Amino acid sequence: MTEPALDFSGRSALVTGAGSGIGAAVARWLDAHGIATLHLVDVNAEGMAALDLSCEVHRHVHDVSDPQFWGGFERAAGTLDHAVVNAGIALGGAPIAEQTFQHWRRVMAVNLDGAFLTLAAALRLMQANGGGSAVVTSSITAIKPVPGIGAYGVSKAGVAHMTRIAAAENAARGIRVNAVAPGGVDTAIWDSGEAFRKAVEDHGREGAIAAMGAGTPRGRFATADEIAGDIGYLLSDMAANVTGVVLNTDGGFSL
Ligand code: NAD
Repeated sequence: MTEPALDFSGRSALVTGAGSGIGAAVARWLDAHGIATLHLVDVNAEGMAALDLSCEVHRHVHDVSDPQFWGGFERAAGTLDHAVVNAGIALGGAPIAEQTFQHWRRVMAVNLDGAFLTLAAALRLMQANGGGSAVVTSSITAIKPVPGIGAYGVSKAGVAHMTRIAAAENAARGIRVNAVAPGGVDTAIWDSGEAFRKAVEDHGREGAIAAMGAGTPRGRFATADEIAGDIGYLLSDMAANVTGVVLNTDGGFSL
């Protein structure tokens, strides 16, 4: 039997970036914990189609940084209990002095503008609903300045602070807003980085992930399912007194 505080029966949730990695794992986690309705958003139609879920599912093949999508989404969804603001890109990167403005803007458009549009739409639906909870996917790079991925790190610091502000603005309305800040997680996001692609050429994908994980205190990267469990906890009634928190889920990387 599901622990009552982890039971999502009768509720609805929005998950962005649900076509792969952490977002797909969250969709599976919520489905396993009784969610009634899932609204999945991703530009990756195939990834969302591949998810085998037993709840009512609405798949939206859209770019989260498109403001027009969110107006239509609010009208179509009508009501919402939970949101996972998770879609994101990394795209490799470069030191600040060498970073192109085009790259900077693209990362901000998806990771920061997209997260703002998603969270704002979700908050309006939850406010009308009289309560709810949201979790935003930040990153440990929001706290630890990792050289060479400045646009990504700044975008993730932005969403961490947006989380705290939204939490302060909505606590009295019965809406909790938290974030997770994962360290390395074995997902497809790594495949967009040039340094990682070179490591894959030399060691294979599994070897490249293992080599990077070996350099962390835990000795390995997290799985997407592990991060989904952290997100599920923060979304759930088990975390009823937790809001405005950015939870480091990094296997000790930030220590
Ligand atoms: P992933 O690449 O497996 O999944 C990201 C998903 O977001 C993909 O399905 C992609 O199509 C989707 N997406 C990208 N841009 C989009 C857009 N404009 N509109 C809609 N969907 C879009 O990677 P992941 O690791 O599961 O990433 C999920 C989140 O976790 C991201 O925000 C990422 O920054 C964050 N994160 C990942 C790690 C890690 O090591 N994997 C660490 C910290 C934080």
